[in-house]
Amino acid sequence: MGQLYIDGKFKDASDGQVFEVLNPYTLKVIENQSSASEDDVESAIEGAINAFDTYKKTTAYERADLLRKLLSLMTFGEEEIAKIMTEEQGKPFAEALGEVRYAASYVRWYAEEAIRVKGDLLAPSMTDSKMEVTKVPVGPVGIITPWNFPLAMFVRKVAPALAAGCTVVVKPAEETPLTAVKFFQWIHEAGFPKGVCQLITGDAKMIGKKMLESIGIRKISFTGSTGVGQYLMEQSGATLKKLSLELGGHAPFIVFDDADIEAAVEGAIASKFRNCGQVCVATNRVYVQEAVYDEFLSKMKLSLSKMKVGDGFNNVDLGPMINEAGFEKVQDHVSGAVECGAKVYYGGEGYRAESGQGGFLYEPTLLIDVDHSMKVMTEETFGPVLPVMKFKEESEVIEHANNTPFGLAAYYYTNNLGRANRVSEGLDYGMIGLNTGRISAAQAPFGGVKMSGFGREGGSYGIEEYLVTKYVMINY
Ligand code: NAP
Repeated sequence: MGQLYIDGKFKDASDGQVFEVLNPYTLKVIENQSSASEDDVESAIEGAINAFDTYKKTTAYERADLLRKLLSLMTFGEEEIAKIMTEEQGKPFAEALGEVRYAASYVRWYAEEAIRVKGDLLAPSMTDSKMEVTKVPVGPVGIITPWNFPLAMFVRKVAPALAAGCTVVVKPAEETPLTAVKFFQWIHEAGFPKGVCQLITGDAKMIGKKMLESIGIRKISFTGSTGVGQYLMEQSGATLKKLSLELGGHAPFIVFDDADIEAAVEGAIASKFRNCGQVCVATNRVYVQEAVYDEFLSKMKLSLSKMKVGDGFNNVDLGPMINEAGFEKVQDHVSGAVECGAKVYYGGEGYRAESGQGGFLYEPTLLIDVDHSMKVMTEETFGPVLPVMKFKEESEVIEHANNTPFGLAAYYYTNNLGRANRVSEGLDYGMIGLNTGRISAAQAPFGGVKMSGFGREGGSYGIEEYLVTKYVMINY
């Protein structure tokens, strides 16, 4: 059974409650996971608060060493945890392995970044005085993450928090707790002091409420839907917590007529179909300039026809959708678009695995004749559907691209230098891929604007989220 990790010990829930974790391809139960009681959540929060008093006094070198031990355990055990991830989340095994390496790259980065946190000595306005500015850890942090990247989403938060000297209480998604349990075994083995890292799983509302109410939890770092992010922001007002919110997106992907079309097709596939389209920075809508529209469509169709859908352990390109609700949303977006005049250019079918007894699969799908009245062009589809629209002018497409409440990621392809500079300036997004569909990296700032949230993960920007500025005026 998957257990909680509180005060340096793996434990069942105090009231013995569990929930089932399913394989989304077979829909069979993989394992039971402990469902934390209110007492367990209070103990985890209390433990993190107590541990903070001593952990914040460790040297950056000690914290860096702990992170390096964690990194070596992750590297050694990458296949083991990738298997757990494919089993509970469904993504192809190669992608799961890629996620483990991506998560490990954050642990490596923050093992190095821990010792680079520094302050300032300011020029005083009086003699015999000093003005000292330091960066100190914000305090115990509540971390809440989704199922689409069962490891990377919380490691991107845990690694900088631990490097900064914060303690953490981690609450992963209900669908994917087992990857987190494995990771916490490594946290234990690496030797982090008791209470520094706590793992709790179970009732999201109750856990979230306890974190929000606790005056000792000084920050919440959340990745997930915009709705839950808004709720956390409203409710954290009572205890004035620092917040980082990594929320939903609606990424445009623009192909100009001077672009390398083969590269644009490859980039759109990388950004759209990874993890079956269940990615916050996934392309949601494609705009292709009219002169290259037909060429883009035929090349894209050819590429999609080579993609395999099925069990993540079976060398496929697309695994199952996470659950029935996700599948129904995709069906709703496709059928709604078709009812309003869109045409299915490729794919368009969803079906059940294992002769109707298993999980929910959806073909890679290309829609044409779409417009902005359709949900697929305005709401996050979170599935393998690519709606493609023709455009004429650069100014027109920038307006379309920005006409969304979201602002996480945008992509565009061009070989014109002047246009490249104009479009990067014009796109109102936190992250932009120019001639690439892959933008995430440990050293880069990951995060959005507008309804996609605020805060940055990665690089020197990411550790700032777990630090506060402290000023001491010294007279001597
Ligand atoms: P979600 O429903 O918001 O869930 C995310 C996490 O929040 C889960 O652990 C969930 O717990 C928990 N949660 C739900 N209700 C809560 C509450 N009232 N209080 C406290 N915690 C609560 O999102 P999702 O459907 O799992 O994930 C998909 C969304 O995440 C998409 O919108 C996607 O774009 C976004 N996302 C954003 C980024 C980014 O970096 N910007 C990255 C990945 C995903 P349970 O699982 O137990 O319900």
